[in-house]
This record gives sequence, structure tokens and C-alpha cells, in this order.
Amino acid sequence: MSRWPDRTVADRFWAKVDCRGQDECWPWLGYRLPKGYGILRIVGNKRMVATRVSLALAGRPRPSDQHEACHSCDNPPCVNPAHLWWGTRHDNMRDSVKKGHHAQASRTHCFRGHALTGDNIMLNNLGRRLCRQCNRIRGRWQRERRRQLPEDAARVNDAAAAKGKAIQETLADARAREASNA
Ligand SMILES: [Zn+2]
Ligand SMILES: [Zn+2]
Repeated sequence: MSRWPDRTVADRFWAKVDCRGQDECWPWLGYRLPKGYGILRIVGNKRMVATRVSLALAGRPRPSDQHEACHSCDNPPCVNPAHLWWGTRHDNMRDSVKKGHHAQASRTHCFRGHALTGDNIMLNNLGRRLCRQCNRIRGRWQRERRRQLPEDAARVNDAAAAKGKAIQETLADARAREASNA
């Protein structure tokens, strides 16, 4: 509990909340991720998801690294602690499926056709389901790409040099022809 709450974090947090009625959603007025989840900058460049801060400040610290702040109201910018609960990724997924208005939750396969079931499902930090196999493929691409970058750069330089040489030769030819015609 000593990580939170210190006065400055609490002050900075509440300054960015539109506190409404007890049962209403309290929209986050600060920076939001594209999906609407609020972000609070803590010390230096450290950023915290606003919902987590809200729960911690309400005396409900994160039970474990496996737990995510979930919305009972399904409103991502809402930070009313009464609308938030700590759930594991599995709880959150079950909840999303139960609610059924999570478009991703109804997909049974990823775009590559891998089945989105069991161990092949992973959730990102916004609770969106991702295909584990595709994630592995992406990771491999990125590693491969990093390895190839210097080679690619060398190839591009070689190609540019070759092209430059070809242009010079063409120009020289043209000049020579002009000279012989004159
Ligand atoms: Zn709400
Ligand atoms: Zn996939």
C-alpha cells in the first residue's frame, strides 16, 4: 500500500476526474488512450491506467499482477470506483463474453484462421483478445526485421550506387554520341 496513495498522486488524479453522482460514471478528463482508458502520469515518465489508480486510492489495491481493473459499466473513461472491480484476465474475458457487446469477444478465429480458444487466447492490457500464435509470428517478424535492417540498408546503398553509375554511363554515352554527330 505504500506505493499509493501519496497526496500528490491523489490530488493530481482527482483534478482530472469529472465527479458526478454516486451511481453515475465519472469520466476521466485527462489523457486517454484511443480506446478511452484514462492515463495518469506519475513520476517522470511512468504512466498508470487511471482505473487502477482510482481503485488504489479507494483503498482497494491491486490484488496481484494477474488482476486488471474491470468496468461494470463498460465505459472505458469511467473511473468511479463503484463501477470498478479487480478481475483476472480470465474473469474479464468471461465478463466480456457474458455481456456480449464486446465485438472481439464474439470472434471465434483470428484473421489468419487460428481458433481463438483456450491457451491460444491472450488479453492485452485493455482486455482485448489476441491470438497467441499470431503474437508469436509478429515477434518473430520483428526479430527478423531487426536482424535484416543493416543488410537491407547495404542493399539499398548498393542499388543506389549501381543506378547512379548507370545514369552516369548513359549520360556519357549520350554526350559521346552528340559529340560524334556534331
Ligand atoms: Zn461507470
Ligand atoms: Zn492467429
